[in-house]
Amino acid sequence: MILVHSASQVVTPLHVVDNGAVAAEDDKIVFVGSTSEALSSFPNAEKINASGKLVLPGFVDAHTHSIFGGDRSNEFLMRLRGATYQEIAASGGGILSTMRATRNASEQELLQTAAANLQIMLAHGTTTLEVKTGYGLSWDSESKLLNVAQQLKQVATQDIAVTFLAAHDFPPEKSRDAYVKEICHEMLPKVALEKSADFCDVFCDQGYYTNEQTSAISLRAAELGLKIKVHVDELADVNGAALAAELGAISADHLIFANNDGIKKMADAGVTAVLLPGTSIGLKSGRHAPARTMIENGVRVAVATDFNPGTCYCHSMQFVLQLSALLYKLTAEEALAAATLNGARAIGMQDQVGSLEPGKLMDCLIFDLPHYGHLFYNLGVNRLETVVKRGKIAWNKNPKLN
Ligand SMILES: [Zn+2]
Repeated sequence: MILVHSASQVVTPLHVVDNGAVAAEDDKIVFVGSTSEALSSFPNAEKINASGKLVLPGFVDAHTHSIFGGDRSNEFLMRLRGATYQEIAASGGGILSTMRATRNASEQELLQTAAANLQIMLAHGTTTLEVKTGYGLSWDSESKLLNVAQQLKQVATQDIAVTFLAAHDFPPEKSRDAYVKEICHEMLPKVALEKSADFCDVFCDQGYYTNEQTSAISLRAAELGLKIKVHVDELADVNGAALAAELGAISADHLIFANNDGIKKMADAGVTAVLLPGTSIGLKSGRHAPARTMIENGVRVAVATDFNPGTCYCHSMQFVLQLSALLYKLTAEEALAAATLNGARAIGMQDQVGSLEPGKLMDCLIFDLPHYGHLFYNLGVNRLETVVKRGKIAWNKNPKLN
């Protein structure tokens, strides 16, 4: 047994327990409540004294592109000089530049890079994440990425949900129609048979997949038993929010340009919005997803890093929390739920992770901060001290304790 006790606050995030404690047997939480009750109920547990500290559930990063080859820091510099996403893509950069580097990389190289990035995420508090394929854009290389994702599940500390995103862009070597047909008739049946992904995703936006192509791929995926996610309305309003609702997607992601009609339809259909504030600042468009309108209309809002080599090379859910409060005007409580429980809902793992509740996995973070307000107030630093994953200390700020 493990018992984290005497925390100045335990934020579950549904409620706050002052002088709180969390206890777990093996990998599952068995108690959340007061320290005095915990110490008398579990006298023999291995104890972690969190006196003066803040305890949170591990962050759930519901949208990452963590498996890729190469480096696009040069494009970020172009962006700082004023180039747009579309201009960078037209000059040979963008997703297709990562596609070339990813196709040329071995499984071992891709796995090593991804595992190193997940370790940095862990050191910032991410204990569960989603990873997407999508830089292969051919069956040979997309299946290589699925293999890497399966291996990553074995070697990484975090729990991982896998999303098949062959429809991230179009490969240069064939027609768009031919590629959509190949995804529907050749790739998706293999993914479903191998059970190598939990979700199917499509980049539905201006210049990328049309709403018709997105529907065709998503409906085929659903028929084969995969759950649907969509990247929509990132670059323009393509009515993607409404499409996500029609398709019964588990989440619609980005939504920078989502319109009110689509937002209402998402609320009715129970589609979780996954908002990616790091990407909207990376795009430098000055435009951000209408998070308050979504919340006012009853849409569940999650926030995630969108960790990727291009628009948002960001490992830190703490930075995302701060951005979501400052850019989207979420309250601290809304932002914390968005980075934990709603992230879990966006990947269908809300029964296992996302909050500190008996029966869920013992994934918790101990910060050297007295109050959850400091997570927002103390900008741009990592005050995380200890990460407990599945009941075991998985990371500590003091390298001697790792
Ligand atoms: Zn993305």
